[in-house]
Amino acid sequence: MATQCTHLKQIQNVHPNTKGCEECLKAGDRWVHLRMCLLCGHVGCCDSSKNKHATKHFHQTQHPVMRSIEPGEQWGWCYIDELELDF
Ligand SMILES: [Zn+2]
Ligand SMILES: [Zn+2]
Ligand SMILES: [Zn+2]
Repeated sequence: MATQCTHLKQIQNVHPNTKGCEECLKAGDRWVHLRMCLLCGHVGCCDSSKNKHATKHFHQTQHPVMRSIEPGEQWGWCYIDELELDF
């Protein structure tokens, strides 16, 4: 298992593309928590949400690094290394 994420250099200075989960907003669906892709600014819902759009975004795009955009939360996650990241 990796101890260090090798994808941090791919991170861009992104801002959330949408105020909520992009796909859930389109579908009129609900989410639990929001995660933002740090490569393109895609906002998706977490794995506690039934649609899991943040994880689906990774599988569709191979963008590996996301972070929580819940207020007060600083952590991120690399899907490839399966490592928690601190921001
Ligand atoms: Zn990584
Ligand atoms: Zn969603
Ligand atoms: Zn992305």
